[in-house]
Amino acid sequence: MRIIKIGGSIQKDPNDYHLIAEKIKKFTDDKVIVVTSALKNVTNELLQVTNEPEKAVSKVSEIIDRHYDMLSKVSNGKVFEEGFQLLSKVTDELAKVAWAIGTLGENNPRLRDYVLSFGERMAVIILGEALRSYGIDARPITEPPLITDSNYGEANVLLPETKERLHALLESVKSKVVIVPGFIGTTPEGKYTTIGRGGSDYSATVIAKALNVKEVRLVTEVPGIMTGDPRKFKGAKTIPRLSLEEAVELSQLGAKRLHPKTFDPVFDTDIEIYVEGLYDEGFTVVKGSCTPSDVLKGIAVVEGLTLIDVESTRMVGRIGSAAAVMTEAQKANVNIIAMSQPASETSIQLVVSSSDAKKLQERLASLKEFVKDISAIDVDAVSIVGCGLQRPEIASKVISSAAAYNPISVSRGMRRVSLTFIAERGQAVELAEELHEVVLKWIN
Ligand code: ASP
Ligand code: MG
Repeated sequence: MRIIKIGGSIQKDPNDYHLIAEKIKKFTDDKVIVVTSALKNVTNELLQVTNEPEKAVSKVSEIIDRHYDMLSKVSNGKVFEEGFQLLSKVTDELAKVAWAIGTLGENNPRLRDYVLSFGERMAVIILGEALRSYGIDARPITEPPLITDSNYGEANVLLPETKERLHALLESVKSKVVIVPGFIGTTPEGKYTTIGRGGSDYSATVIAKALNVKEVRLVTEVPGIMTGDPRKFKGAKTIPRLSLEEAVELSQLGAKRLHPKTFDPVFDTDIEIYVEGLYDEGFTVVKGSCTPSDVLKGIAVVEGLTLIDVESTRMVGRIGSAAAVMTEAQKANVNIIAMSQPASETSIQLVVSSSDAKKLQERLASLKEFVKDISAIDVDAVSIVGCGLQRPEIASKVISSAAAYNPISVSRGMRRVSLTFIAERGQAVELAEELHEVVLKWIN
């Protein structure tokens, strides 16, 4: 059996479904569970529906129309009619919800997840009927296979219950290809939940774990995970293989946006994850832990950051001074992207998104008890990822290449398979290019 996840960004026009069908056909020698995300942009638009109740009805009718339009373009005859019936059930429900939102103006996490669930449920039907139109023995199942707790927006999967539901599903559905929604789940009481934005990749790996399936294919718009963003780096290439540690670091650093939890279910298993393109040949296989042949794999750059430097001799040796600084960030609802403090304890550096910098600086200025000076500079974060960084000879080479660009700080990621340099904005680009050249030497 295989799990194949079809991303939302590759479900935007009828030709995409043609390519998706061709791809899935290649794997129908065995049973396939297809996990789908909502059509391109639909999740964002459904979020708007909950955020702007006055527009809920018109926005929803636009979204619904788009799905019927797509269904009519990817299927016809009896398949279209059956799809139409399935879709009507779901869209009738969505229209009622939109009306209620518009009338009551309500918005809460549980309602939001309920509204978002329609994106994936509608997508299952479109994809299912499209595959059937191409002669594939496929069956769309709109109800999510995942059972979760009720932590709406970031729900946690309950694995034993999910396992049971999946086995029951496979018992009752004999079609070669079963299509299920990613990203959404239900609580044991049957309330819809979501597992975090971009969560359909994670749905796919969790299903693989629950069913003990050894192969997961994540089909996206790019042919695998690349050594660097090809728009920024000359000669960027698809990385043939990543260890799980490397994949986690690269996915968190955003080279190819994958939900960071995607790889969690796969640690300590022999599941292989293929990240592959729909439009171009090429893939990355993610499997197992670091091996000696994993050296340096990729570069990620996070731009538009500000380093806030808080200085004072009054922080030295005082329990709670760092906590006070961090708490201000938390209260200001500011995410800390990187941080550092020297052993002298005379300063604390926080790296945050530049758009958050001003409000955090203002708050920190109020910490008169600890803080004397606050300064800020524009920076970028440049990260290099590879298991080779665990080896002193490789790490020291990378650090000495970076030294020429005068990085302000260096930190290490999970299991030491990444190094992040914070550098002044002007120098970060050159630093990243230099490190990318180093990476290319190690990629075959
Ligand atoms: N449709 C969901 C989102 O946009 C899940 C996913 O795409 O993976 O976040
Ligand atoms: Mg998506």
